[in-house]
Amino acid sequence: MQQNVKAAMSSPDSQSVNPSDSLSDFAFGKLAALEARNQRRTLVDTARSAAMALSVNGGAPLISFTDNDYLGLSTHPDVVLAAKAAADEYGAGSGASRLVTGNHPLYRTLEEKIASIKGTEDAAVFGSGYLANVGIIPTLVGKDDLIIADELVHTCIHAGMQLSRATVKFFRHNDVAHAAELLAKHRAAHSRCLMVVDGVYSMDGDIAPLKDLGLLARDHDAWLMNDDAHALGTIGGGRGSMYATGAEGLVPLQMGTLSKAVGSYGGYLAASKPVIDLIKTRARSFIYTTGLPPAAVGASLKALELIETDAAMVARPVKLAQVFAEVLGLPRPETPIVPLVIGTETDALDASEQLTREGFKVIAFRPPTVPEGTSRLRFSFSASHRDADVARLIEVCQKLGLGG
Ligand SMILES: *Cc1c(COP(=O)(O)O)cnc(C)c1O
Repeated sequence: MQQNVKAAMSSPDSQSVNPSDSLSDFAFGKLAALEARNQRRTLVDTARSAAMALSVNGGAPLISFTDNDYLGLSTHPDVVLAAKAAADEYGAGSGASRLVTGNHPLYRTLEEKIASIKGTEDAAVFGSGYLANVGIIPTLVGKDDLIIADELVHTCIHAGMQLSRATVKFFRHNDVAHAAELLAKHRAAHSRCLMVVDGVYSMDGDIAPLKDLGLLARDHDAWLMNDDAHALGTIGGGRGSMYATGAEGLVPLQMGTLSKAVGSYGGYLAASKPVIDLIKTRARSFIYTTGLPPAAVGASLKALELIETDAAMVARPVKLAQVFAEVLGLPRPETPIVPLVIGTETDALDASEQLTREGFKVIAFRPPTVPEGTSRLRFSFSASHRDADVARLIEVCQKLGLGG
């Protein structure tokens, strides 16, 4: 009986659901429609270990070329040790919002470290990058204001923009001239203006033209924010996209996450002291949520120390990506991300499956994460990949006819 229920639950087109249950009917119907378009997502148990090895559903280890752990710091012994030490000293959880009693002493050190790496007066650490974006944007702009955003910004920026109720205009991806057109047309009718981009676009691996956007923003009294989720620890000597593009002084709002190259969890904004003070007083996703577990903060702090001091480690992921792309005849990447656009959902899933059979984990990204018809494999490289694993990946891709 238990087995039957389980079987029924795992199949969206099953007829054995209680027909009077409109809620479950709705969910199953929705899932069936997604399944038909190959857009249903499922979770698998993934046990990660050092050097990008992971075991899916308890199976033989695969080498992952799909993580955002660009420096392998999530499994770095010193980082793990720092997490343990923080838990030993301050406990497993933080107990309350940071503004109540959840602001354990490691936070101050972490925020000073982020501000120093980013070259700003101060920083605010949030529970995650997602929480940072849904908190920062509505704190800075409201319904009389304007947001100019790249059409490919991350989904949590969209969430933050919606919460702000500001007027939002999108410019074509990385198209500075289009952004200028939108500002010329709409800026005057609004009070404050925020310009938002990703520093590095996670599905394409390209970098925002921050210098040109920054100069443009300055001309129109617009505040430029870069989401450096994929840029901190990977480009600009590890300091992110502002430094990689020579846009120092032009990006007053540097946002990012501690969950990718930093290998831990949490989000941040680096900015001037008044901006950070305002964020800590008004951002709802900063105030009305519990502080991070001390272990996450301790791990981030240690990881950022390594990023600051180990230049060879920071340079390695981009180097590996460039070697891979060159051999396979793909455009030269400036980041650790190499997209290989396949086309349909089915073909992308097939390619991913073939790589799995060869011992590699490379996820197929499909709509709505990427535009229709551009389902792709997204290869991401990490400092902790071994040369031999990259060499074998190249060999396998050539054998499977994957490449430019
Ligand atoms: C991953 C990501 C986020 C979210 O960060 P989390 O800390 O994982 O919530 C935000 N923006 C971009 C561009 C991202 O890639």
